[in-house]
Amino acid sequence: MNPDVHARACHLIDAGQVEGISAAEREWLDAHLAECPACGARARASEHALQALRSNTVIVDPALVSTTQARVRWRARQLRENQARLRALWISCGLSWLLGAVTAPLLWEAMAWLGRQFELSPAIWITGFALFWVAPATLVGALVAWRQARSSSVGNTPEAWER
Ligand SMILES: [Zn+2]
Repeated sequence: MNPDVHARACHLIDAGQVEGISAAEREWLDAHLAECPACGARARASEHALQALRSNTVIVDPALVSTTQARVRWRARQLRENQARLRALWISCGLSWLLGAVTAPLLWEAMAWLGRQFELSPAIWITGFALFWVAPATLVGALVAWRQARSSSVGNTPEAWER
């Protein structure tokens, strides 16, 4: 028998169990299965495999279940922590901007006074004002980066949560 005929039968067996086949294809397949033991065995094996899947008797390793649960818990905790951290960051950014806006004129006056007292050129005390202005944001940025590096390296891995 032509090997293409068996390949067509295999394709129709699979298609018949998934998306369905036409009546003419079903008729052709049934005729072929009646006279071809190899394709008949394949059709029965495929049917058995599908029955096993439908009966839903898949046994999962308990270790795999607990590992998966631990990873899900770890990920949920990580998301909650990130959310809380982000909220705290926005609040501190808002406060920082507010304080910066309120204190900027005072800081400007203080730097100008220092510049006059020590007879500094305006370039120096204006640079000092700018550095003083960016110092808090730089400090907070460094702190956030340090905390993230620490939390990702010390005891906050999914493996640590599986124990
Ligand atoms: Zn065949």
